Amino acid sequence: MTTSKKFRPWRRLAGALEAVIILGIPFLKINGESALRFDIPSLRLHFFGLTLWMEEFFILLIAVIFLTFFFLLITLLFGRIWCGWLCPQTVISDLTRFAEKAKGLAYKLGAYSAVFLISVIVSANLIWYFIDPYEFIPQAMEGRLGDVTWGFWITLTGIIFLNFILLRQRFCATICPYAKLQGVMYDDKTLVIAFDTRRKEECMDCGACVKACPVNIDIREGMSNACINCAQCIDECADMMGHRERKSLISYFFGLPGGTGKILRRNAVMLGSVAAAFLVFFAYLLFSRVALDMVILPNYSFPPKITEDGRAVNSYILSLRNTGGKDIALKVDVNGISGSIAIIPEGDITVVAGELKKIPLYITVKDFNEKALKSNIFISVKSIKSDKLRVTRRANFIFP
Ligand code: SF4
Ligand code: SF4
Repeated sequence: MTTSKKFRPWRRLAGALEAVIILGIPFLKINGESALRFDIPSLRLHFFGLTLWMEEFFILLIAVIFLTFFFLLITLLFGRIWCGWLCPQTVISDLTRFAEKAKGLAYKLGAYSAVFLISVIVSANLIWYFIDPYEFIPQAMEGRLGDVTWGFWITLTGIIFLNFILLRQRFCATICPYAKLQGVMYDDKTLVIAFDTRRKEECMDCGACVKACPVNIDIREGMSNACINCAQCIDECADMMGHRERKSLISYFFGLPGGTGKILRRNAVMLGSVAAAFLVFFAYLLFSRVALDMVILPNYSFPPKITEDGRAVNSYILSLRNTGGKDIALKVDVNGISGSIAIIPEGDITVVAGELKKIPLYITVKDFNEKALKSNIFISVKSIKSDKLRVTRRANFIFP
């Protein structure tokens, strides 16, 4: 797959689209809440219209496992495609490349100021995934941000600024754990960027590919773990070889120059199957969840009794948790026992979003079977607005 095509404009387009998405998502609202934000005070995650509470974070754990297998699959098939095209470290390093070239005090000062401004925006953007930007921005402009938020913003800005002034793409070769993992994921059909050794005689030894490389490697000497697959050497060589009306000597190859890609190989199918299974499990957990949970315990301060007029009374403590984003009004219902049943409380029970409400429940049964000692009953709570929002639990009803 030798090419004279330029990847630079496409990489820029991919980076720009990614920046728009990452910067824009905190401003997107769904049902009046942020599309994607972890709200620290209430320990809940707003996830594209759904609200996940701390107790439900196992659902996110499944999403993380899916993403891990998905990234392993992408790495096996397409190598460091993420690093070269979409990793924010690469995208911002490309965007701030002017800082590397800055010469002279005034130009350097201007370039570093621009990198600092980008660092301020990037760090604020990270914080917006925790604090609503519609609150953050006015508060920041009026100087009303809390000390902790200011502290985080300043610290993050400092780290990002130093990263893009001192480390830049060296971060990928030295610190990034994903980069280290990728080496062991490659097989002989993984997509790589390589020098076409079959045409090595055509190389003009102009050095343009080495000069353009952000991690200072010479791809002609063979593949290197430090290569982030940014494709800049391809474009540079395409320019140079273009003068001779030849195609670039450096290009994408599946495995080795001349190799062919074979997506359906055993390790890829296995990884893909595991990733798909976790994705299906995640979707099932996400869409089958009911925004209501109930735990029933006996009310030990009110043991089962028979009243003077012959009614059996049992009391329970209902723990109701509203795991949705909206308040709900609930009604209690009891089934599974014969006789005339009365329930206290009779009216609606309102549980506000995120609330764990504990209420005593009294069930009175009249005209019951005199010989019964114990009976299984089914206690349900259901939303007065939606039949779908209903939880049923089994409990014992005792006739003392
Ligand atoms: S060798 Fe080429 S693809 Fe690899 S980092 Fe250098 S310029 Fe980018
Ligand atoms: S840019 Fe192309 S022609 Fe120039 S040294 Fe690199 S591989 Fe050779």
